[in-house]
Amino acid sequence: PVILGIESTCDETAAAVVRGKTLVSNVVASSMNEHARYGGVIPEIASRAHAEAFVPVVSQALADAQMDISDVDAIAVSAGPGLAGCLAVGVSGAKSLAWAANKPLYGINHVIGHVAVTQLQFGDVPENTLALIVSGGHTSILRVGDIATDVSVIGTTLDDAAGECFDKVARLLGFPYPGGPHIDRHAQSGDPHALRVPQGLTQGKAAAAHPYDFSFSGVKTAVARWIESESAKGHEIPVDDVCAALADSVATVLSKKTMAAAEKFGADTVIVGGGFSANSQLREALRQSGVDHGIDVRIPELKLCTDNGAMVAMLGSNLVSAGVKPSSMDFSIDSSMSLNTICME
Ligand code: ATP
Ligand code: MG
Ligand code: FE
Repeated sequence: PVILGIESTCDETAAAVVRGKTLVSNVVASSMNEHARYGGVIPEIASRAHAEAFVPVVSQALADAQMDISDVDAIAVSAGPGLAGCLAVGVSGAKSLAWAANKPLYGINHVIGHVAVTQLQFGDVPENTLALIVSGGHTSILRVGDIATDVSVIGTTLDDAAGECFDKVARLLGFPYPGGPHIDRHAQSGDPHALRVPQGLTQGKAAAAHPYDFSFSGVKTAVARWIESESAKGHEIPVDDVCAALADSVATVLSKKTMAAAEKFGADTVIVGGGFSANSQLREALRQSGVDHGIDVRIPELKLCTDNGAMVAMLGSNLVSAGVKPSSMDFSIDSSMSLNTICME
């Protein structure tokens, strides 16, 4: 099937056309730069940017594919999770298009799209795969029985996402938003053992009750306390070491818990997605533990990891191929859409 996918959950307005499992066009506009001076995404600014970018981005995706809307078999759009005002722009636009062109519409789960998109690079998602989706807004482990019909959440962050934790520490260290990539770079020349940074939910009763969940707000607080106490002593802050210790803790807990879940559920494949999968410490930790555990770790190229329309179109293509019913035209956005839901009814 030929699917037009539309994405507007956060700060990217994106559209793409997929034919079967082949990417035909992929257009992404981001309002990231408009948020930089506020140190985080401002929902109101992001929503307005979506409203401005929607028509140009969708038109460009169709033009690049040398198609018009009558050539597509179905439209897919992210229905959640995400920022409500942002989702509303993409979903309203997609509904209008579907209505006018008389095409079936699929309101899909953005996070599961991050899993689906790996098919463009690695081929089919094997039955019983585990996925780690990690970004500025998400940190979750999913079990994928079948990408179109059977996905369940195994674990998730109880508070901050990994990218959010990096961005908050980066702010303490004076790096501009988004600070994650700065931490990554500085970590490469630091000593991860120069200070102790907790991994979050790895010790005691809480860890036993939450074997596949994460908690990063305490990680950020621990780093903040350490910086405060060092400053109070008049010590200079060893920025590279702080970055290295943070990156090591976060990469270790993410890869350890993902691999533990893979063993527990008997998965031979681990899929990684979301913008934080750009992090070199995480990539290395996963690559190494994949080798140690004999697990095929699939981390796609960066432009497929960050938010895009191809992920939405690819999941739409899976749903159409599996014969899943389209969403009803009056489905609502769901800013906290359950990760067990693949598509809105
Ligand atoms: P989503 O809606 O998927 O949550 P998002 O805009 O919050 O989207 P992405 O754009 O997918 O997230 O990823 C951005 C996040 O990843 C930011 O928190 C950023 O700091 C972090 N990040 C990006 N590159 C790196 C890196 N090399 N090391 C660490 N963090 C990184
Ligand atoms: Mg983004
Ligand atoms: Fe995302």
